[in-house]
Amino acid sequence: MITDNLFQVKKTLVEGVELIAVSKTKPASDIQTLYDAGQRAFGENKVQELVDKYEVLPKDIQWHLIGHLQTNKVKYIAPFVHLIHGVDSFKLLKEINKEAAKCQRIIPCLLQFHIAQEETKFGFSFEEAQEMLESNEFVELQHVNIHGVMGMASFTEDTQLIHEEFQTLHNYFQLIKSHYFKFNPDFKELSMGMSGDYQIAMEEGSTMVRVGSTIFGSR
Ligand SMILES: *Cc1c(COP(=O)(O)O)cnc(C)c1O
Repeated sequence: MITDNLFQVKKTLVEGVELIAVSKTKPASDIQTLYDAGQRAFGENKVQELVDKYEVLPKDIQWHLIGHLQTNKVKYIAPFVHLIHGVDSFKLLKEINKEAAKCQRIIPCLLQFHIAQEETKFGFSFEEAQEMLESNEFVELQHVNIHGVMGMASFTEDTQLIHEEFQTLHNYFQLIKSHYFKFNPDFKELSMGMSGDYQIAMEEGSTMVRVGSTIFGSR
C-alpha cells in the first residue's frame, strides 16, 4: 500500500527532482518497507525520533532533518545527518559548524526562508540572510556547506498565493547563488513542496520535494 503510494508519487515527479519521504510519526517498519522498494532519502522533524530510527534502520539511509532544530539538539544528529533543511538562524548554523567539527564532518545545510503569510513558520527574511552571508564570521565556518534554500508556502486553497510564495523563494535562491555561492557547485537545491503543493513547487523550480501524508497516509 505505502509502496504503491511511493511509486505513484515518483511517477508524478519532474525529472531531476529528488523525493524526500517524510516519515515523521510513522513506525520504522514503514520506512523499512519503502527502503526495500528502493527509497533512501527520508525526512524527520524531531531529533529524538530521528535518532531512534537511525539506530534500528539500515545505515545507508539518507536522513534529512526537515523541521525546526534547537541548538542544544544538534549534537545528537551531527554524526550522521545527510542534510539539515531548517537552518533559520546564524546561531544555529554556528552550532552545527561546531558539532560537525567535533565529528570531523562538513554538514550540508539549507537556509530556511520565511515565505508564507502565517506568522508561525520559521525562517530567515532575505535581509537577515544577507547580513549573515556578508559577515566575516560566516566565511570562517569550515564545517558547514550551504547546499541551497528551503521554504514552506502558506497552508491555503489559494493556489495563486502558493505560486507567488514559491516564486519568491526561487528568486531568493537565484540572488543568493549569484551573490555568495557563484563558485560553489553544491549550492543547487531548492527544497520546496509537500503533499498538498509539491506539483506547484515543481512548476516553480523545486529540486527537492518533502512528501509525507500522500505516501504514508495521514498522521
Ligand atoms: C511534515 C512536513 C512535511 C510533509 O508534509 P505532508 O503534508 O505530510 O507531505 C514537509 N516538510 C516539513 C517541513 C514538514 O514538517
